[in-house]
Amino acid sequence: MGRIRLLPEIVASQVAAGEVVERPASVVKELIENSLDAGAEKIDIIIRRGGISLVRVIDDGCGMDRDDALLSLERHATSKIRSAADLQAVATLGFRGEALPSIASVSRFRLTTRETDAIAGTEIIINGGKLEVARDGGEAPGTQVEVRSLFYNLPARRKFLRSENTESRNIEHQIHLQAIGHPQIAFSLLRDDRVLFRLPSAATLGDRIRDLYGTELLERLVEVNSTPSRKSRISGFIGQAGLSRQTKAQQLIFVNGRAIESSLITAAVREGYHTALMKGQYPVTFLFLELDPATVDVNVHPAKREVRFRDPNGVREEIVRCIQETLQGRRAEWQEKFRAPISSQATVAGKAAPDLMLRPGVSVPEESHRALPHLTPEATYHVIAGVTRARAVVPGESVQPDKPPGRAPAKRDSNQHQFNIIGVLSKLYVLMENADGLVLVDQHAAHERILFEELRRRMEEYGVPTQKLLLPQTFDVPPRDADWIERNLSILQKMGIGIESFGPDTFKIDSVPSFLNVSDPAQFMRKVIDDLKSAGNSASAMRLGEEMIAKSVCRHAVKANDPLRYPEVEKLIRDLLDCDLPYCCPHGRPTMIQISLAELEKKFGRKV
Ligand code: ADP
Ligand code: MG
Repeated sequence: MGRIRLLPEIVASQVAAGEVVERPASVVKELIENSLDAGAEKIDIIIRRGGISLVRVIDDGCGMDRDDALLSLERHATSKIRSAADLQAVATLGFRGEALPSIASVSRFRLTTRETDAIAGTEIIINGGKLEVARDGGEAPGTQVEVRSLFYNLPARRKFLRSENTESRNIEHQIHLQAIGHPQIAFSLLRDDRVLFRLPSAATLGDRIRDLYGTELLERLVEVNSTPSRKSRISGFIGQAGLSRQTKAQQLIFVNGRAIESSLITAAVREGYHTALMKGQYPVTFLFLELDPATVDVNVHPAKREVRFRDPNGVREEIVRCIQETLQGRRAEWQEKFRAPISSQATVAGKAAPDLMLRPGVSVPEESHRALPHLTPEATYHVIAGVTRARAVVPGESVQPDKPPGRAPAKRDSNQHQFNIIGVLSKLYVLMENADGLVLVDQHAAHERILFEELRRRMEEYGVPTQKLLLPQTFDVPPRDADWIERNLSILQKMGIGIESFGPDTFKIDSVPSFLNVSDPAQFMRKVIDDLKSAGNSASAMRLGEEMIAKSVCRHAVKANDPLRYPEVEKLIRDLLDCDLPYCCPHGRPTMIQISLAELEKKFGRKV
């Protein structure tokens, strides 16, 4: 008896603080969220020594009267929800009523606040959870929260803090998230008495991105175009194909205005980029997802960093589709630059320029070159089927028939493209001009992209060529994977994997796609299952095929040092411009770099 007792209020708050307040950046996050919920239009943040010695957040929001100010520091005191039912449709960033008391229990805390029309404001001082002062104070309308000496009374927690620099960077990231999430709100950050940024209220998300990260980044982003569905709306900006980062720092995702971390969404984004993202790199996203609040549970994590979706598959699919459409939508814009007539011969900066244009044939030597392996339908087919014929096949057993396809794929009209080829630099970069200025094309990357799309089209039409195994193999998988294979048998077969059930949790595999050199079918299958599972339902039968082509295409494409004849260079460019994703190779590297006349004029000081 007597072993169980209620914790004193202060201790309970400190325990809760362990979850809500991990580090100075979490204090900044909670305080900014409160300011936003209070309708602030301007939020100023001041930090000192990584926020460990001081965090101060000043807003011009609605403020609080004396009673509310005192109440706001009690645990589970909130103005934002009233009943559990309200959790179904939380429209504010806060709702748990935990942040202020938690922060106050682990710091030297001072709150001053005044409602707009009130004559006097209120000042409250709390040290380590203990109320020291509550009195009138005459500050400007709004609320100011000052948090000093974080974790001064919890030395064990304080030890877990990182260097001041790291903590500062975490805080900056947190403010970036909030600033991107709320472009119309003005933000400023003062770090150790230095102004790090002052962001005016921005009219659009694009303006805010430019103010925070510069025009250069904005120019490499594509505005998300997605038809809103009944269930959701996706908006924002994402990096164009070929733009990526080594860290996740610029992968920002918001659900109903709340910055969140979601492995489901990041995986979906990755899947959407697929061949447009370099391996091991991270995409740049400023992605806003709006869903019916009743279909998202925001009350999963005390710091509200994670959410749970009622229909995770639906969300995943919408995002994959939206990213794909957005990346391809960029194509029209590129096409424009190759459709308009080239005017460079007319005037540069108003003056007639002498005709220095080289004739195409002059700059690209006619001698000593290799012909570009054109992809006639037959040739294409052989690239796919070639591996099949080259490898051991049991006599009498037929692989996919080696007949050339009957019909060439529909060719888009590429004659409208306007460009002048100037020459080839270093046997690799095609130099040309279009309406916008100078274009550099990596001939190897370009050819990879062309081959990739061509082969993919063929595969869609004729299926994946398969290779019979000398000896069919049986293999066991864990029950969950067995269930997955059962459900996806037909997709796997379309992918060129000959697989059938062979007893509970056992399967027999007798053929594999001929692209791959599969030495261990069981291990191959495990990899396929993992890949496809993580790709989710959006994985089509073509998914595996695409990966295979992307791998093999590199070997078939013209190499950096292969000199090409002029007509071949021209054909290469025309074919490239006809691709779905002309601006990056199937490994996510850029194929073309455009340097506009305006950029050149700036560089040469003709324009400031
Ligand atoms: P929550 O935000 O989950 O409601 P908090 O502990 O963060 O819980 O805040 C408690 C309450 O204090 C809020 O519900 C709000 O009414 C009030 N409050 C906090 N910060 C501010 C602020 N900056 N301006 C006006 N009211 C505030
Ligand atoms: Mg709050």
